[in-house]
Amino acid sequence: MSSTNLRIRMNPFEREPRFVRRKVARALKRTAHSGQFILGREVESFEREWSEFNGSQYSVGVGNGLDALTIGLRALGIGPGDEVITTPMTAFATILAIKTVGAEPVLADIEWDTALMSIDDAQSKITPRTRAIVFVHLYGRAGNMAAWQQLAAEAGIHLVEDCAQAHGAAIGEQRVGTFGSFGAFSFYPTKNLGALGDGGLLVTNDEDLASEARLLRNYGQRSRYEHVRWGYNSRLDEIQAAVLRVKLPYLESNNRRRREIADSYRRALTAHPTISVLEAPKLLESHVNHLFVVRTENRKGLMEFLARHSVDSLSHYPISANLQPPMTKRATALPMPYSELHSEQCVSLPISPWLRNSEVDRVCELLAQYRG
Ligand SMILES: *Cc1c(COP(=O)(O)O)cnc(C)c1O
Repeated sequence: MSSTNLRIRMNPFEREPRFVRRKVARALKRTAHSGQFILGREVESFEREWSEFNGSQYSVGVGNGLDALTIGLRALGIGPGDEVITTPMTAFATILAIKTVGAEPVLADIEWDTALMSIDDAQSKITPRTRAIVFVHLYGRAGNMAAWQQLAAEAGIHLVEDCAQAHGAAIGEQRVGTFGSFGAFSFYPTKNLGALGDGGLLVTNDEDLASEARLLRNYGQRSRYEHVRWGYNSRLDEIQAAVLRVKLPYLESNNRRRREIADSYRRALTAHPTISVLEAPKLLESHVNHLFVVRTENRKGLMEFLARHSVDSLSHYPISANLQPPMTKRATALPMPYSELHSEQCVSLPISPWLRNSEVDRVCELLAQYRG
């Protein structure tokens, strides 16, 4: 088959259907000619459309996912002297956001079966200084939010959701981002909904939090030249909002395609001698398969085998955040045995919605053959 001669890549962006790319081109042109490039009609419309899609009352478009978390935490009044609990198995941006507002990132280890933050370990890390938990819907899997809501309520702290990998994931009918004080999304190009550059957004059902975030993203400005906060410059660009409006209607079908690919990989890996998959979601939880992550003791061996057969792979994440240099210097950086072991074993397989069936079959065949 000819596809065996071609690399199977993580993100073959150029394969997005031509009719979508044509609509994107029209949106770019429309925006370029609009004379309105910052906080105009496109951002306003996308915020409204995202709120409707996500079942959130308010959406605030910002510069990127890191800023969505940072601005949300600032809007909650979290800062120096406060502690915020999160997972070491995440994009480092989650931890940077906590540090950026001046709070102390406190890590809780993952649960082995899912690689999501362990609620028991998180509970054990709560102190009188803890103000919030940032739960990450890692790899696209919605967490057990009822349990996290209960923990946060009992402790009298905020629950925050990092939804940067989980656009459209839900518990039953309720989308992620709506279970806590706010949810943060990233539209980095590789995410399930991606812009043509950086973009981010926070969702909330709290009107005050939404208006505080609107101030903060725009120099802390209440009305023109009146600055009531030490704000930021972090706005979703009109041009990115225009692109995202084109792509949003295809998010769910893309997520369904990701699910199909994940199901194929799961079938191919049933009872594999050396490669294991993470636990499948439970009945109500959804998984939008941002990444398909497997574990194997000889990670290098598997990645090299795939590369030899022209299949790209990555590791998310090869360094547990507690072992990143800025973290190791902190008193709060304890060993994270499960996260560290996961970081040594994890391999992300290609799961772009643009993969062809022949490519998915090829990866499945290779995995079945592999004896590393
Ligand atoms: C991508 C990502 C972020 C950061 O988003 P940016 O838009 O790149 O700033 C934060 N958290 C998680 C879990 C991510 O995957």
